[in-house]
Amino acid sequence: MTLTVAIVGRPNVGKSTLFNRLVGRRLALVDDKPGVTRDRREGEASLGDLEFRVIDTAGLDDADTESLGGRMRRQTEMAITGADVCLFMIDARAGITPLDRHFASLVRRSGAAVILVANKCEGKAGEPGLYDAFSLGLGEPVALSAEHGEGTSDLYAALKAFSEANGAEAGARPGRERKTVPVADTLLEPGEDGDEEADLGPDRPMRVAIVGRPNAGKSTLINKLLGEERLLTGPEAGITRDSISVDWQWRGQPIKLFDTAGLRRQARVVEKLEKLSVSDALRAIRFAEVVILTIDATQPFEKQDLQIADLVAREGRALVIAVNKWDLVEDAQKTKRFLEEECERLLPQVRGVALITVSALAGKGLDRLIAATLEAYAAWNRRVPTAALNRWLAEALERHSPPAARGRRIKLRYMTQAKARPPTFIVFCSRPEELPEAYTRYLINGLREAFDLPAVPIRLQLRKGRNPYAEK
Ligand code: GDP
Repeated sequence: MTLTVAIVGRPNVGKSTLFNRLVGRRLALVDDKPGVTRDRREGEASLGDLEFRVIDTAGLDDADTESLGGRMRRQTEMAITGADVCLFMIDARAGITPLDRHFASLVRRSGAAVILVANKCEGKAGEPGLYDAFSLGLGEPVALSAEHGEGTSDLYAALKAFSEANGAEAGARPGRERKTVPVADTLLEPGEDGDEEADLGPDRPMRVAIVGRPNAGKSTLINKLLGEERLLTGPEAGITRDSISVDWQWRGQPIKLFDTAGLRRQARVVEKLEKLSVSDALRAIRFAEVVILTIDATQPFEKQDLQIADLVAREGRALVIAVNKWDLVEDAQKTKRFLEEECERLLPQVRGVALITVSALAGKGLDRLIAATLEAYAAWNRRVPTAALNRWLAEALERHSPPAARGRRIKLRYMTQAKARPPTFIVFCSRPEELPEAYTRYLINGLREAFDLPAVPIRLQLRKGRNPYAEK
């Protein structure tokens, strides 16, 4: 039942200092012959009432750079697969380097459980790096000073929470059965930025779901996109209502399209008994990265359309609206304008969403639809550099200063993007609970315009925090 914890990260962030602190005197039990570069040390560690096995890859810190790439890769791979949880360590004083991002990307893709640790956080010099660590997409960092022994109670709390949540399985080492991406396949040379872009390789299909009210034209649209032949080769319709995904390409772009047996069956059944259930739509939405909401141009923005759009936003997916049956519309220009106004009024939560007019029946507008879907996908994946964000924040504050609450102005001090998919930002401020909702909306709308993030749900979290640069 012993938990195994691996300390990973680029060289010189302080892995061995933490290892020594955790293992303490028992280090003597570890074979530590001088003169031999040991890539990996293991020891029995304790922290409070927690006893666990710890694996360290710190021997790499002394390796010559030439052999570093391959050995780091192997060691990290081994450490990750052998562990129940990884302590992913960064040096908060050095900030986030491309090599950190590269390692974070390996760890993230391995699917391993991770506790992010920002080391060297004693004093003020570590604060910018601590905030930037959010941008690694590995959750909230534990601020630590391995050398000074600060922050170990936070580390204890994080490990304790992990061990309690996974205690039952820890002995069985679920990590061993976990599907891991072979690290070797994904390694970039040190120094290369292996962050999000690597996850979006040309072979990785974009996951798309087509949803909408019954009779909006979903089946017609899917059939048209896939081509009739494709459908004939698909699984036998009507047998199951389970979700089906179809791998398909549009002008060379791989796309995984979510379909339901229900949709396929509808195409055959003359009388339409099928009603869209919320759970069907929800399943499709959760599958997808981008959702194409199909609405009927002759009956636009009905309650169910709005409900689905709202669901997409709440689930954090990117949205594109296909306004179908455009062939039935008489005054195209006027109708388009009307629809845009209605959309702005009824769906403020997805402001900037692309309204693409199509005729599924005639196969018109499909290229524009897929182009808009790809754009929404790109925005959903976008990462805004911290420096640009903070420049923007300063301007936004100048244009409209935040209101005062109980006589004192609320101070917004620093901002960083914690993750993409969907874009999620953290603003550190003096009294987060008192910042009015309207001001948050102002910031979100500003971010949308400044960083080209239309139609993706933007998450903005407020945290209490100081400006890491103020006292410099
Ligand atoms: P679903 O329930 O959303 O899958 O809708 P279907 O694809 O079964 O389409 C419902 C009805 O609308 C069918 O009679 C289709 O022929 C018709 N339809 C679908 N797309 C178009 C379109 O672009 N123009 C017109 N005029 N009719 C369409």
